Amino acid sequence: MLREHPCHRHPPGQHTDTCLTGPCGFCGTTLQAIASGECRSCLRIVCEACDGGYDPDRGPICHPCTQPGTGPRARPAT
Ligand SMILES: [Zn+2]
Ligand SMILES: [Zn+2]
Ligand SMILES: [Zn+2]
Repeated sequence: MLREHPCHRHPPGQHTDTCLTGPCGFCGTTLQAIASGECRSCLRIVCEACDGGYDPDRGPICHPCTQPGTGPRARPAT
């Protein structure tokens, strides 16, 4: 990990401006310039570049929560 994820500083799901508009806690990308959402597994804010598998119903799942080798990633090549 690069550093502490901003979502570690508040109760799960209760996001602050820091984690919603600041840098992505995983890669540092400014969230105002890239799509982001709440990981359905760890409830941390994950940016588009860091979501390991987006589910239309459940939302993004970040890479740290994605178990590699569990199957092919069904991700649209957009
Ligand atoms: Zn947060
Ligand atoms: Zn990121
Ligand atoms: Zn996660």
